Parts: sequence; C-alpha cells; structure tokens
Amino acid sequence: MRMFSKACSLVVSSLPRCSSSAPAIRGQPSLIPRVSRKWLGKPLMYGIGTLLVMPLRTIHGVGRMFGAARYLCNMTSVSSSLQIELVPCLQDNYAYILHDVDTGTVGVVDPSEAVPIINALEKRNQNLTYILNTHHHYDHTGGNLELKATYGAKVIGSEKDKDRIPGIDITLSEGDTWMFAGHQVLVMETPGHTSGHVSFYFPGSGAIFTGDTLFSLSCGKLFEGTPEQMYSSLQKIVALPDVTKVYCGHEYTLSNSRFALSIEPGNEELQEYAASTADLRNKNTPTVPTTIAREKQCNPFLRTSSPEIKKRLSIPDHFDDARVLEVIRRAKDNF
Ligand SMILES: [Zn+2]
Repeated sequence: MRMFSKACSLVVSSLPRCSSSAPAIRGQPSLIPRVSRKWLGKPLMYGIGTLLVMPLRTIHGVGRMFGAARYLCNMTSVSSSLQIELVPCLQDNYAYILHDVDTGTVGVVDPSEAVPIINALEKRNQNLTYILNTHHHYDHTGGNLELKATYGAKVIGSEKDKDRIPGIDITLSEGDTWMFAGHQVLVMETPGHTSGHVSFYFPGSGAIFTGDTLFSLSCGKLFEGTPEQMYSSLQKIVALPDVTKVYCGHEYTLSNSRFALSIEPGNEELQEYAASTADLRNKNTPTVPTTIAREKQCNPFLRTSSPEIKKRLSIPDHFDDARVLEVIRRAKDNF
C-alpha cells in the first residue's frame, strides 16, 4: 500500500483526480448520487448568479456535487489555491489553518487554543478572517474568543450549536454552501459524537474536516448521539470520492490502530497502515490527513460487514450495521 500520510505539516491541496467514479458500497452502484440529491436543494437555490461569479476551481466542485464532474474533466489544469497547515494544539488536537493564496484570506478550523494559532499566523505575518468549528467541545473552540478579540475573525458553526459555540457569528445547516475566499464549502451535518456536529467539505480541494466524527481508524465517542446517527454520518462522509483527504480533530491513529488490529488482525492493509503509523509517530510526524480510500480499507467502524470483526466480537449475523457499530464502539470504549 503506497498512500500513507505525507510527512510534512504544510500541505498544498490539489484537485482530486478527474473522475466521476464513486466506490460501490454494499451492492449500491454509487452513494454519491444519493448524497448529491440531498445537497441539490440549497446549492440550486444558491443560484446561477453565484455560479457566474465563482472562480473556475469552484465550478469544478459544483460540477462534482451535481454529478456532472465528467463534463468538466477538461478543466484538469485548474488547481486549487488552498493551503492547509496542521497546527498541533493541547495534548493531541489538530487545528488547521486555511490559506487562500490568491486573496491572502486565512481561516482556522477548530482552534482549541489561541496561542499556537497566533504564533503560526505571526510567523507568516497573516491576519485571521474566519474561525470554523465542527462542534462545541472546548478542545475545538477554546481559542475562539481570544482569536476573535485579536483579529476580529468571524466564527462559523452549526445552527444547532448556536448557543454552545463561543462567539458564533454565522450559523450553517445541512446542505448549506458557504464560500471561503472563492472556495466552495459544503456543510454536512454529522451527528453522533455531539448532536450539532458538522463536517466541512471543500470539493474543489478534495478535503474534508471531520472534527470528532471520523478519525483515522476510529470514530468519536457517542456522547450525544445514537449508533444509528454515527453510522449514517460516517456513511455520508465515506460516500465522498476515495481520494478525498480527511483532516480529523485528533492524532489518535496509533492507539486506534492497536484496537483495530485486535479485532481484525487478518486485514493486510490495516497491518501495513499500522506499521506505517508507528513509524510516523516515532518520528513525531502527523498521520493526518488520511484518505477516504484508506479508511474504508482499515477503519473498523467502516467495516461493519467484516466477517473477521463479527467473529472476533461474537456479533450475531442478524445485527444490522448500526448495531454492529455499537458493539465495536463499546469494545473500543473498554479496550
Ligand atoms: Zn469532541
């Protein structure tokens, strides 16, 4: 397997390869059209007028969401100008600084504390315009108020968390499209860890910020949601193109790999990824971003139909996917 994380902290995103092919999951030809239909309402209302003023790179993203990516494949020379920088915070959190190189606009996803963000911005003499929060937990929003006071940045989060996210200015809901300096951002409600959790998908850059919903090799604990909600949130995320880069809220991959191997030791891709993860962490290198493809091959919470996992955890055949996820989650909580 040759697609392990890059050992650099500054990642220049590029467009996913021009392909409209979506992986078949559980006998369905593709989950993409299902998701696209859900998202068609608001983007369509968003209007043709918006399309006309969007930069080309964003139109590519719209085409992908409308299931029309194949018609736009000749735009392969169009590249995204979004830079994503990992900023380690607290014990094992990651915040992500987003930088649009064309306009100089800067945002940050899930700043658990202000100081590391301020230091990173000062190093490059940058201002901060936006703060994006995936959910209300302190280790994702702890830096909001200080960053807002320092830079006058606007705080963006879920409508459902409007009373719980400190300093929130702009509220968004499922299917909303928000623009970050010309980059289309699609809001996906992904409850399970918390009731108001959202993920931010940047189709033009092939990147998604999943907070504490999808981790590499695991998912978030079910503090405010049901196994059904988490299962459905995870399926929504993994219906995105395989090459999509996944930026999650924590560096948990090494300990997650130990649990994953304990319940699916025969998974060769997992064995390789676990070895690579141990190697990266030995060098204090992030394992993030991961990809949708890798998570589908290795993450036990996306492998609820694995016979090996079911056997190891003595899960009856008649359990549906959400119940299997529930058993895996319980086993991990007690691991
Ligand atoms: Zn959390």
